[in-house]
Parts: sequence; C-alpha cells; structure tokens
Amino acid sequence: MKTSIATVSISGELPDKLAAIAAAGFDGVEIFENDFLAFDGSPADVGRMVRDHGLEITLFQPFRDFEGMPEPHRSRTFDRAERKFDIMQQLGTDLVLVCSNVSPVSLGGIDRAAADFHELGERAAKRGLRVGYEALAWGRHIYDHRDAWEIVRRAQHPNIGIILDSFHSLARKIDINSIRSIPKESIFIVQLADAPLIDMDLLYWSRHFRNMPGEGDLAVADFTAAIAETGYDGYFSLEIFNDQFRGGSATAIAADGHRSLVYLGDKVRRRPASSGLTLAPMPERVPVRGIGFIEFSADADDAAALTTILQTLGFSRTARHRSKCVDLYEQGEIRIVVNTEEVGFASAAHAVRGTSAYAVGLLVDDAPLAMARAVALGAEPFSQAVGQGEVEIPAVRGVGGGLIYLLDGKADLGRIWEIDFEPLDDGGKIVPAGLLRVDHIAQTVAYEEMLTWLLFYSSIFDVEKSPVVDIIDPSGVVRSQVIQNSDGSLRVTMNGAENRRTLAGHFIAENFGSGVQHIAFSTDDIFATAATLKANGFQPLQISPNYYDDVEARFGLDPELTERLKADNILYDRDDHGEYFQLYSPTYGEGFFLEIVERRGYRGYGAANAIFRIAALKKNLRPAGVPRS
Ligand code: MG
Ligand code: MG
Repeated sequence: MKTSIATVSISGELPDKLAAIAAAGFDGVEIFENDFLAFDGSPADVGRMVRDHGLEITLFQPFRDFEGMPEPHRSRTFDRAERKFDIMQQLGTDLVLVCSNVSPVSLGGIDRAAADFHELGERAAKRGLRVGYEALAWGRHIYDHRDAWEIVRRAQHPNIGIILDSFHSLARKIDINSIRSIPKESIFIVQLADAPLIDMDLLYWSRHFRNMPGEGDLAVADFTAAIAETGYDGYFSLEIFNDQFRGGSATAIAADGHRSLVYLGDKVRRRPASSGLTLAPMPERVPVRGIGFIEFSADADDAAALTTILQTLGFSRTARHRSKCVDLYEQGEIRIVVNTEEVGFASAAHAVRGTSAYAVGLLVDDAPLAMARAVALGAEPFSQAVGQGEVEIPAVRGVGGGLIYLLDGKADLGRIWEIDFEPLDDGGKIVPAGLLRVDHIAQTVAYEEMLTWLLFYSSIFDVEKSPVVDIIDPSGVVRSQVIQNSDGSLRVTMNGAENRRTLAGHFIAENFGSGVQHIAFSTDDIFATAATLKANGFQPLQISPNYYDDVEARFGLDPELTERLKADNILYDRDDHGEYFQLYSPTYGEGFFLEIVERRGYRGYGAANAIFRIAALKKNLRPAGVPRS
C-alpha cells in the first residue's frame, strides 16, 4: 500500500510540512498550488526539497473549471492548462488533478466534456503528463464519480484517467459498487478522507470537517475495499481539510494520517477479494478484558493526602513493592498503585505534572501480540530498567505522554502482584465501600488532540467510538467522545477543551498538558456506598439544592427518592436503557476528581448533569492569579 498525503492536510510552512510527512513514513505527497505559491522558491526548488526527503510528488492540484467551457473561456482554459503543465514539469510530477467544473458559465453535455478531455490528453501526452478527473460533490454538472468515469471513458485517451475521492462519493451516498467495474489502469490516484456525519452544505462540510479515515463516520473502509477489488495498487492519498488540525502540530497530524492509512489498510486487507492491497501483516485489533490497575505518581506529601482519600473511599493497602516505593491499594476488582519513587519515569512524570494518574494497565489476552499491533500502528514503546527477578510489563506511550501497560494472565506477567509485591495486612481498619470496578477513565485533552487519541485507541484496541457530545461547562463547551469495548470493561471518555476557563481547560493549562482528569468507580448500591463513605469521613462534592428541584420535575421522581439523592449529594440521570447515579469527590490539586457511579442499565455518562457538577467542582479550584501553595 503506497501512502501519500496532500500538503493542505497539515499545518505550517511547506518545509515543515514536508519534514513531518517524511518523518511519519509516507511515500508521497500531493503538492497544493497554494502551498507552493506561498513558498519563496521555484517549482524546481520545491521538487528538489520533496525528493531530498525521499518523497515522490504524487500529483499537483487543483486545476479548476476546465471542462465544458464556451469560447472564449475555452481557449483561455487550455492556455491555463499549458502553464500548469510547465509548473508540473519543473516540480517533477506527471499527474494533475482536474476537479469538476463549478463555473456558472460552464456547459453540460457528457460528449462536450469528453472532447475537452481528449484534447487535454493529447496536449499532456506531448509532455509525458497525465490528467486525472475528479467529481466534486458540488460540481455544477458533474458531481458523481459514475458520470466522471463516463466522461473519462468517452475521452478515450490513455493520458486521461479518473481520480476517486472517498469524501465526494460517500458524502453523496453514491453506490460504491460502481467503482468495482472501473479498470484499474484508469484510476490514476485514490484520495481518502473521512468526516463526522453532519447535515450541512457539502462544500462547507468538506472544507472544514474532513478528517482521517477512522476518525469520522463515513464508510471509508467499504470504499477502499471496492478500489482494492479492482486490483488498483497505486497511491492512497489523504486529502483532509479540517479546522481542528490547524491548531495541531504538523508532526502529530502527519503521524495520525499515516496511522489512519495503516489501520484502514489492515481493516480492508482482512476482507475477501482485496487483492490490490499489500501491507506488512500485524495482529488483529486487541480485545481488552478490563483495567488491571491505575498508577499514580506522587511525592511523599501528596501520597499521604492521596492515601487518605483512598482510605475514606474504602481502599486497603494490600501490598508493597519489594524494591521500590510503590504501594498497592485494592477494593473489589480495582487496583490502585501509588508510586513515590524519586527516580525513573513516575518521578519524572510527577516533576512535570504533579500528582497524576499517569499510567493505566490494560488486561489483554496476549501482551506481546498487543504490543506488536500497537507498534505496527506507530505507538511508541516504553521500557525502563526493572530490578533483578522483577517482571517487565510491555508498555507504550499514551495520552499526554502517560503510559499504557499491557498485562496478560500468562507466565510471570500473570503473577506480577506476587512476584514484585510483598503482601501487607493493614489490620482490617478500612471498611470497604462496595466499589467494584473502574467504570470509566476520563482523559482531558486539548481539543486539537482529541481525534489523535480516538484514532490511537480505536486503531489498536477492539473498541468503538461514540458520536461527539457537547458537555456544557459554565465557561464554555467541552467536546466529549467515548471509546468503549462491547462489554463495557474498558470505557474511556475523552474530553476536548477549547478554552482554559472551562474546568477541563484549567486542568490542561495547570497540569502542563493532557491526562486523566477523573476516574469513576462502579458500585451496585450507591446509597450503601454513600453511607459507608460518610462513616469513613469522605467529603462528597456539594451539589446545589436547586439541582434536586429540577431533576425531580424533569424525571417526575418520587419526592422520597429526591430527598435521598439530595441528602447524599447524588446526581441522577436516565436514558432509554435505565437509570444512573453519580457521586463526586471535590477536586484535588488542579482539577483532578473521583466519581462513583451506579448503572441500572444506563449507557451514558451523565452529560446532562455536567453543568451542575462542573459548577460545583470549580468552587474549590484555586482561583486564577493565586499562586500554588
Ligand atoms: Mg479530492
Ligand atoms: Mg464521569
């Protein structure tokens, strides 16, 4: 599978874009005319720069409003084409993209367009160049790849072919089976883009909301499979226009792009009849069986505070690491590791971020296979020295530079808590509060990073992503999307913060980046848990009494239930599947907090309650301008 990306997909100046594209592992690049016009160098300089990076120019674009023009426009259009051909020859590329005409003066008629292309083919052939025709979804006469193909077919010229773009075909819901009958020699290049499903003007949707395959909702894999069935073995090139990417780093976006193509290629290759696609083999998406542990980095003082919180929540310290300052706390199936080492990665993470849940251990069937999948998709492996006889857990870097450990039940990895840890008896002082499992982990990320991490999780692990939900913070909107597996044993909510006045934005600004902002534990009896927590001295987040009037009216709750909710500061929500109860801690540090939930069939995350609990959570944040104590 040969990979390419259009320069327009990435932010920055042309030299930075090319460096990022090459570093991400692409084979080729589409040069957008604007990128090249903004650059202080000749077309030959640009061509050299591209080749110095080991890249091929896959095409030059766009050439607009060509076919079907009446005179005198027609002659001028051919002159314009000759000038583009000059540039292409200096750049060192043989393919130009002509997109279907949107000009109001253009005339329809398939034979007229075919005749124009035949003549353009003659002119291109004299220079050894090729012309690819693409149907824009908003073209004036041609907006369907089937019509574009009919024009190419009637043009009857080997230097004229079709360019297929997943966005244009899928946005118009054109039957992709029609691709299977196009001969592969006539497909000059394939452009790929995904997009979230939004009902809006096609041009606006395309210019602002395209994203990488797998990041949106379009059937890009079906489209690609249809192409692969033709035997096409040319470039798959990303052409993405997205406002969210403009704020992101060129390196990160290029890396996402490459990951998206590898993920797509792997998905398509697993289907029958995709003969055209060759790709290095890799294991399938990794099923996650649960969360094995969550690890906090802390210094001694913070650890004491954290330990107190854990104990009021009913966690007992059950083991201590044999050689490191690392303690294990347990309740139900939940394992919390508190790392106060003064050397190593946890300590470095603490130095930058303060106390944080910097590592998560995921339970998988086969850790080495999971690792192979992650690395094939561009995840960065992590390892650090372990003591003699201790177990090394395979790991990759995750959100905000944190770690994802991969644990399986095999050999030493399955016995890590016995091998590396010494059991402790805390004397039965701690009263468990009925916390069973980690219900979800909430990661707060900068808005422009959100798609990066959604793609990271969904390409490596066997999870699905939810549509975007807006979380209303009193100071702005936070975008939220969830990735979860089929049995709910892995649920990660991803919150994208656009401004620092929101609780999520404050967390990112003050913690120097993205990370885990809250962890939710599940109980199957929220009221019993609340009673135990109270007895343990836990201070829940105080919810405004007005909330309870509202929730009672909204859901028609029994006043007795409302009173119980109010007495325990429990939030309530309901969906088509059932009820949801939420109990929050106040914020600790720069906005980290804990949550306890009971699901009675409910499938969401309490988005409707967010504005109430965020207002409450913000009350105990350090106000802006007050130094950290
Ligand atoms: Mg296109
Ligand atoms: Mg939550």
